[in-house]
Amino acid sequence: MGDDWLCCSYYLRSQNRTRNNCLVINALVSEEANCLLGLSASELEEWAEEQGEQAFRGRQIYNWLYQKGVKNLGDITVLPKPWRMSLLEKGFEVGRLKEVKRLVSSDETMKLLLSTFDGEIIETVGIPTLKRLTVCVSSQIGCSMGCRFCATGKGGLQRSLKVHEIIDQVLSVRDAIGRRPSNVVFMGMGEPLLNIEAVLNSIRCLNNDLGIGQRRITISTVGVANTLPRLTELAKAHLESVQFTLAISLHAPNQKLRESLIPSAKTYPINELLKDCSHYFLSTGRRVSFEYILIGKINDQVYHAEELASLLKGLNSHVNLIAYNPIDEEEFTRPPKANILAFQETLERCGIPVSFRSSRGLDQNAACGQLRNQHAALN
Ligand code: SF4
Repeated sequence: MGDDWLCCSYYLRSQNRTRNNCLVINALVSEEANCLLGLSASELEEWAEEQGEQAFRGRQIYNWLYQKGVKNLGDITVLPKPWRMSLLEKGFEVGRLKEVKRLVSSDETMKLLLSTFDGEIIETVGIPTLKRLTVCVSSQIGCSMGCRFCATGKGGLQRSLKVHEIIDQVLSVRDAIGRRPSNVVFMGMGEPLLNIEAVLNSIRCLNNDLGIGQRRITISTVGVANTLPRLTELAKAHLESVQFTLAISLHAPNQKLRESLIPSAKTYPINELLKDCSHYFLSTGRRVSFEYILIGKINDQVYHAEELASLLKGLNSHVNLIAYNPIDEEEFTRPPKANILAFQETLERCGIPVSFRSSRGLDQNAACGQLRNQHAALN
């Protein structure tokens, strides 16, 4: 985990935001496999100058990357052809991924499988409603946290995603659905706090370059020991103000049950996690959301709700209930509707703000990582 906190080259970028850091920018672009997606307007201007062109060429590339959604540098026809050719020869790329599969459910939820340069597969989901288009993005390929209810956790971690691979997911959904995404949730494959530098730089890009307000962005985590205090510190450094929503995947009202569902919770006791959430609220002023997947006969009883209410009492929080989406690898079941209602009513009676999030795209392998696993099995 230490490596994930320290190694991302974009950390250097946040430390070097002066006008004259062309060499640094150039080095960063190289480290990111020469991908330009994820760089800001001023960074692209500096990079263009470093490449022997005028700064406005960088601004042109910026417009084509984020407004037009161009996929290849060679297609940016506003640039002089010889320069385009020389950039391609030097190995520079936009950094867009290849769509390999698209599924659309009856409620118009769209799942995309995107292929990376090293042949890995990323799963991303677009969830349209009348007023919103939410993109559920992945932050890693696979996941090391091993949550029992999750298809992604079954295969372990391959690697963390780069900034351009996260931004591409939002652009790919925009292209596929033909609408501007309004919300982004880091709830796809992976544990965002184990790829925090890339996640925070992606939020900066989504906010500044794609116009998605920080308040419409959510980072969802099962919790990683010693990372929440650092998240506040790093978020303030990267984003100036911390406005995004932090959602903790709690899924159980006590340590014993939580550990049985989330093996990684053994190293991060629930009381420590909640203490860190209180500190997070105090230092950012942002209310923490708690995600709770209701699994039939496991954590969906009224006494679980009562225990959860007393656990969260006094904490400035909100609980999101989600009914479990079955996966092939586990015998867990979806709870009956009556249990969901009773659970919700109990929390309300105890004064805990709560909402129920209905599953979307249930007919298209809606559980996280399911479609990717099936794709891997067939290829
Ligand atoms: S639920 Fe999230 S953290 Fe847990 S294994 Fe799945 S992707 Fe990883």
